[in-house]
Amino acid sequence: NKGREYDFEKTVTTCPYCGVGCQLELKTRDRKVIEVGSVYREGTPNPYGEACVKGRFGYDFINHPDRLKKPLIKRNGSFEEAEWEEALSMVAERLTEIKDEYGGRALAGLSSAKCTNEENYLMQKFMRAVIGTNSVDHCARLCHASTVAGLVKAFGSGAMTNSIAEIEGSDVIFVIGSNPTENHPVIGSKMKKAQKQGTKLIVADPRQIELSSLAEVAIQHRPGTDVALLNGLIHVIIDEGLADQKFIEERTENYEYLASVVEDYTPEKVEEITGVEAVKIKKAARLYAEADKAAIYFAMGITQHRTGTDNVLSVANLALLTGNVGRESTGVNPLRGQNNVQGACDLGALSNVYPGYQSVEDPEIKEKFARAWETEELSEEVGLTVVEIFKQAGKEIKGLYIIGENPVISDPDQRHIEESLDKLDFLVVEDIFLTETAKFADVVLPAACFAEKEGTFTNTERRIQKVNQAIEPPGEARADWKIISEISTRMGYQMNYDSPAEIMAEIAEVTPIYGGIYADRLGDKGLQWPCKDREDPGTKFLHQGEFARGKGKFHPVTYIPPAEEVDEEYDFIMMTGRMLYHFHTGTMTRNSEPIDKHEPDAYLEINEKDAKKLRIKEGDRVRVTSRRGEVETNVRIGERVQPGQIFMPFHYAESPANRLTNPVLDQDAKIPELKVTAVKIEKVKSN
Ligand code: SF4
Repeated sequence: NKGREYDFEKTVTTCPYCGVGCQLELKTRDRKVIEVGSVYREGTPNPYGEACVKGRFGYDFINHPDRLKKPLIKRNGSFEEAEWEEALSMVAERLTEIKDEYGGRALAGLSSAKCTNEENYLMQKFMRAVIGTNSVDHCARLCHASTVAGLVKAFGSGAMTNSIAEIEGSDVIFVIGSNPTENHPVIGSKMKKAQKQGTKLIVADPRQIELSSLAEVAIQHRPGTDVALLNGLIHVIIDEGLADQKFIEERTENYEYLASVVEDYTPEKVEEITGVEAVKIKKAARLYAEADKAAIYFAMGITQHRTGTDNVLSVANLALLTGNVGRESTGVNPLRGQNNVQGACDLGALSNVYPGYQSVEDPEIKEKFARAWETEELSEEVGLTVVEIFKQAGKEIKGLYIIGENPVISDPDQRHIEESLDKLDFLVVEDIFLTETAKFADVVLPAACFAEKEGTFTNTERRIQKVNQAIEPPGEARADWKIISEISTRMGYQMNYDSPAEIMAEIAEVTPIYGGIYADRLGDKGLQWPCKDREDPGTKFLHQGEFARGKGKFHPVTYIPPAEEVDEEYDFIMMTGRMLYHFHTGTMTRNSEPIDKHEPDAYLEINEKDAKKLRIKEGDRVRVTSRRGEVETNVRIGERVQPGQIFMPFHYAESPANRLTNPVLDQDAKIPELKVTAVKIEKVKSN
């Protein structure tokens, strides 16, 4: 019984799931969220408020009895509840001891895309100004690090160029390596609506996704062959005289080099590499190039490869070649996965940049931050990234501070991650549940979730929106910004902020792209960066008239195959990914019964031809083995994946897909190749 409507308190806030950033109305009573409702907010990414199933029904985790309510300290191998004073002092002491003995470089921090902008800013400030290291990173390293690296090189800015509201204005939408109807459902709905109204879709994905059935051209290329495919499209566009010569001459550089590199990528050669018929490649190229307004949308199918940065550069090459940047309803649009992964990047939770993508290697920038933060600890040395931190655990890295991340489930090669956590001298984890990662910690600090604190999130279209507190945190849990401040102050560096608004004012002082972002300016619909001062209304789409780097730059790239290919023993290619009902490592959705009950069990998808060959039936139990480990899971048979390929969602701790994945890294962005793993499959039990 949810009670009568007038019994509720109502608070409008930002969804804690995907990067669309829908506004939700939390209905609360007796310190509990009872229901989530829609809210009409003109000018927001989802003005009519039709939240997807995660936003609407994925709130049970907030009131879940297993939420952490008191700090925990591990003694003799078991956790015991502790008072805050003891836990905070222990964290401050242990971090100080390690810093004194080995130097700041022996410590690292993982910040979180689930935390607010203000918290991410404080976490990186703490690691840099107090600890003295740039080894602070977060899960963007596993999703869009290659986007940032590639788009900064091509355009000078690593974010989505255009806005969600512009989707319906595009003549052609090219979706590559992204499954919006499951992972960004409101954007998926907008694309479907646009298609109904006449927008043509090109969909390129190794799997058949929902949008494939609506596409004018649906492409299923082999996993990891994106560069070849995109070079093929570029080859056809140049060959058939469809490039925008005026745009190329006036607004770009390095075109001749691109033209010479793609000469080799004839549709016939590309067909051999990708498995896509030459005629389809030509059709897609013409459709994209001949449109007045063509927009590209991509996600982790592009980024999670050892050639992730090359893939992103290829996407940028295609848009530059046809003049599809710097205008409404065009652009290159990476869809950011988590609610605040854009903000965590913007605010410097990355090992190579301060807030606002200001390089840690630039002495003038370092000087600016040293003055603003009144510290002498800052380092000009780029820090370690997520995967590198785990590789160095027990060697260069002795202590780790993790906020709101669960690398045991999200990072590649799970066994290696577990061994790395075991090797640390000290691990502190701050989270809302005792996650698979928190179980390895020496100290666990209970954190508030999105509904229990104030601050801001930045969505995928660069829109900074308010997070409003609806209820008090459970037990003694505290907001992350308060916990970081307490630890910092105990280590001798005062952080005496009264509110997230005060932190945001400091961010505006040191971060040019957030220069006009103040809590009192955000109103109901937020502001989109770049927003340079208090008068600036924000920016709907980027690169109008001029690119952030001056001219757009073509970066020709050649095709490099994935690190692992099939052989006699490992004869399938496994792709990992996400699904509609679950989110990331499942900390929230698997603890929300109304949605978990729809998809309670892990599975793999296999093509019916392969299933027949292996004598596997729907629901059978199979063992999947890679060069790094094995997992058991249930079988789903169909035609979504092509023969020779399988798909596994990575949300399930009991069948962790990342026990199998390959930690090989993209050399620029240090993102692992989560999309291509060679595996073998054996039947364990019949259904
Ligand atoms: Fe939340 Fe994304 Fe669903 Fe909107 S589309 S309700 S932001 S999960």
